[in-house]
Amino acid sequence: MDKEKELYLDNAATTAVYPEVVDTMLPYFSELYGNPSSIYGFGARSKKAVDEAREIIAKSIGAKTEEIYFTAGGSESDNWALVAMAQAYKDKGKHIITSKIEHHAILHTCEYLERNGFEVTYLDVDEKGFVNPKDVEAAIRPDTILISIMYANNEIGTIEPIGEIGKTAREHGVYFHTDAVQAYGHIPINVDNENIDMLSASAHKLHGPKGIGFLYIRKGIKMGSFIHGGAQERSRRAGTHNVPGIVGMGKAAELAMEHMKENMEHQIRVRDYFIENVKKEIPHVKVNGDLKRRLPNNINVCFRFIEGESMLIMLDMKGICASSGSACTSGSLEPSHVLLAIGLPHETAHGSLRLTISEETTTEDMDYVLRELKAIVGRLRDMSPLYQDFISKN
Ligand SMILES: *Cc1c(COP(=O)(O)O)cnc(C)c1O
Repeated sequence: MDKEKELYLDNAATTAVYPEVVDTMLPYFSELYGNPSSIYGFGARSKKAVDEAREIIAKSIGAKTEEIYFTAGGSESDNWALVAMAQAYKDKGKHIITSKIEHHAILHTCEYLERNGFEVTYLDVDEKGFVNPKDVEAAIRPDTILISIMYANNEIGTIEPIGEIGKTAREHGVYFHTDAVQAYGHIPINVDNENIDMLSASAHKLHGPKGIGFLYIRKGIKMGSFIHGGAQERSRRAGTHNVPGIVGMGKAAELAMEHMKENMEHQIRVRDYFIENVKKEIPHVKVNGDLKRRLPNNINVCFRFIEGESMLIMLDMKGICASSGSACTSGSLEPSHVLLAIGLPHETAHGSLRLTISEETTTEDMDYVLRELKAIVGRLRDMSPLYQDFISKN
């Protein structure tokens, strides 16, 4: 196996923690390990670090510090937002609006709520993966208590019209939550300008540590706790603070904000370079999602007549870490719910490939991927009866 180097192109799954982030975290393990909730000065030093991280994060989305609640990551934030909101406002109504392309942290929580007496509308998206704000408006009922639409999709990178959806929600007096796990730290977000009432984010998607995230909750929303226990996080999220994690997320957020513009420009250049060339180099390829309103780090393509899983294994042999639409469905052969929702036939959706780059990925890296991919797709198609059949008829 010629696995000389590892080319990591799965940054939507998780990212490398920046060395600077690790350095910032390290003192909070064995030196400044005090509990931030304690009275003595030693604990106060941890509290100060937590407060500083909270300030950086609040500022990064235009929120107030008391509106940021630390959680154990994106999934917890999503679960909390939906379940606690449903609990708190069930007397007003039991209807929730979301989309068909949400992350499973949202979709499975919605299914849980449906089993518990709530009603959920799952909005369709168009062929690029966009939720239409008019559809959101049309779905609003007198008993609608929450709209939850993701900021940007984790598979196809489509950036949703969040500002318009937020405006619609506000006009109708319905709270608006967004799963911004893929967007936060990657593209600009402002909770006031976009009328966002709740927002989920996770550190490990922006070069921070795993197991730490936050939920932004706009002041005035009366939802309760999800994790019950101590009085941490204004009695809304119990549990001793994950101080190193929080400090790490603060640092990752600070770096992300500081370098956002240049990171975006670089990634868009590398992304578009690959998209342009893959269309030139490999026949019967389809680019999924929108070409413009797209996360800077996201590439998602389908190769017809091919099994995504075989492609991933062969890419892995060349040291390329990638993902396919069906990867998240844990071993099941069902193609991704996102690709089906944008209208791809099962057979095409099976041949999907997601490459999510980072600020360190270069066009030379993508040349290597293109070269290997071209050979792999060629080999797999040579073995495909579907392709042979197609060729003989065309
Ligand atoms: C990764 C991801 C999550 C889950 O976040 P964790 O921190 O891994 O729990 C939720 N939503 C989206 C869109 C994601 O990409």
